[in-house]
Amino acid sequence: MNQRIVLPGGTIGILGGGQLGRMFALSARKMGYRVHVYEPSPDSPAGQTADVEVNRPYDDLAALREFAQGVDVITYEFENIPVSVLEALEGLVPLRPGREVLHVAQSRRREKEFLARHGFPVVPHRIVASLAEFEAAVAALGRPSVLKTVDFGYDGKGQQPVREGDDLAAIWKNHGAPTGVVEAWLTCRAELSVLVARSLDGQAKTFPVTRNDHRHHILDLSIAPPDLPSEAVAEARKVALALAEQFKLVGLLAVEFFLTEGGQVVVNEMAPRPHNSGHYSFDACVTSQFEQQLRAVCGLPLGETTLLSPVVMRNLLGDLWAAGEPPWDKLLALPGLKLHLYGKASARPGRKMGHYCVLAPSVGEALAVDAKAQALLGRA
Ligand code: ADP
Ligand code: MG
Repeated sequence: MNQRIVLPGGTIGILGGGQLGRMFALSARKMGYRVHVYEPSPDSPAGQTADVEVNRPYDDLAALREFAQGVDVITYEFENIPVSVLEALEGLVPLRPGREVLHVAQSRRREKEFLARHGFPVVPHRIVASLAEFEAAVAALGRPSVLKTVDFGYDGKGQQPVREGDDLAAIWKNHGAPTGVVEAWLTCRAELSVLVARSLDGQAKTFPVTRNDHRHHILDLSIAPPDLPSEAVAEARKVALALAEQFKLVGLLAVEFFLTEGGQVVVNEMAPRPHNSGHYSFDACVTSQFEQQLRAVCGLPLGETTLLSPVVMRNLLGDLWAAGEPPWDKLLALPGLKLHLYGKASARPGRKMGHYCVLAPSVGEALAVDAKAQALLGRA
């Protein structure tokens, strides 16, 4: 059953109704698939673009089983899927990517242990389970460092910096969880990421590497091709391919890296799904990350990932709505700008509402258009 190929006309189930599911559904429907979304809240970004949106909670296992019976394959757009959900789906329909990679990516601890065990470059870190262990970890790793939650972190949530003079007892108290991961804070030359897809028959392809800038721990900007040493870019691709192989991945895996001042490429984290830093591929690659996810989970050959144009991707966060709807008409007058909005009703600060890509003959020209767009948005 697991080897089954799902041809166009088939039905894909997706767990999660966010923007990654929305763009996946758009790609799948373009190719003639039907898409069913499982998402607790109604009118979700993905639900709006799907054939069917099932609004049931994740602890309704009967509803999950019924959902599984109506689709040919299940994938997901977030990795924090409860184990009970996976068990309920087991045996009913293929889940791609499979459980091992999901299990590892669900926890920073398992992620780091997996990376270290298989010899991948990882950020110096320690797992801690008490204030005393936290103090020992900071003494060993030095300051600045950072204390992160083991589970359910995203967009910098659950992270506390540890600076010179900070009170460790207060930080540990605020952490509130039984365990944590302490990481040395690396001085980075840049952050980069690579998406890799692997098919049912073991063929693997990476996407062009992006250079990523974060603001307040949230991705702000991705640039391709990156202005970085070719050895670092090649190393990141190599590590991503090796990870896909190690997991026997069927689907898509996003791998985030730090490029240290010393020129070392180390893995920060990974996610077995499309990634914000891969949004540029929707406009700028022969095959987008969403179409690649579709091809991989359906057992089809992977698409070419060639970059068609230099591109800059910029996230649009809810903060931009503080003074009402932003001036999209003015933005759309800019050359090469492609706007993506996710159909979210309320624009809370920090919430990912959309993004745009600017395509231009060079990254420099794309950045010049991006600067104009930022000025129009009041973010000079
Ligand atoms: P999230 O799950 O929230 O994306 P990350 O671990 O990727 O968490 O952290 C978010 C961002 O914070 C990173 O992309 C990077 O900019 C910064 N960061 C996190 N950990 C470190 C570290 N150990 N050294 C340097 N920068 C870090
Ligand atoms: Mg991250």
